Amino acid sequence: TGAINGLLGWYMIREGKKMLSITIEGDGRHLITDAVMSAGLVIGLVLIDLTKIAVLDSLLSIAIGLFIVYTAYKLVRKSVAGLMDETDFSMVDEVLQILNKNREIEWIDIHNLRAQRYGNELHIDCHMTLPNYFDLTRVHHEVSKADELVNQFGNIKTEFFIHADPCIPECCFYCRMPNCPIRSQEKTEDYIWDMARVAQNNKHFATETIVIAHE
Ligand SMILES: [Zn+2]
Ligand SMILES: [Zn+2]
Ligand SMILES: [Zn+2]
Repeated sequence: TGAINGLLGWYMIREGKKMLSITIEGDGRHLITDAVMSAGLVIGLVLIDLTKIAVLDSLLSIAIGLFIVYTAYKLVRKSVAGLMDETDFSMVDEVLQILNKNREIEWIDIHNLRAQRYGNELHIDCHMTLPNYFDLTRVHHEVSKADELVNQFGNIKTEFFIHADPCIPECCFYCRMPNCPIRSQEKTEDYIWDMARVAQNNKHFATETIVIAHE
């Protein structure tokens, strides 16, 4: 399978460049790395078998160990970057800037955001907290508005899947709704929707301590 992976990897890099798709290109490199690794493993095993040199056996074990550590490191780094490709970071950042600049008073927060790039399309999943007394028509309207905004101002076509969350009293301190009939406390904080904040799997920001001053 090493040779097949190598071929497939080369093909994906070529196609990736053609489509300007960083994700596919990245996957192609990954496949080539795997192919080289598989080939190295086979050559190592054959050498051990032919030469019966015990040192080779240990060397191969060390190499495999290092490779596993390296793979684990890459995985951890990727999940720290918010489960998204680092190359997609700037595109998601652009989406966040558009949302921040044009955000509606009704959009209490955005969280649990995940992004993925498919070719020339960006796919974003996120949760949006809205006042819990909005009816479905209103919720649909707010969600569609966010989608339209991002596709109107963004440089990349974005497929937006927004999951609506009803607000809870813990949201009130950063909720901008004026004359809210169920407000339990005054609004004291303003949050900018940056990557670190919106990527959180946390429901709402209530437990957060990072605070941005009023505008
Ligand atoms: Zn609809
Ligand atoms: Zn409220
Ligand atoms: Zn949520």
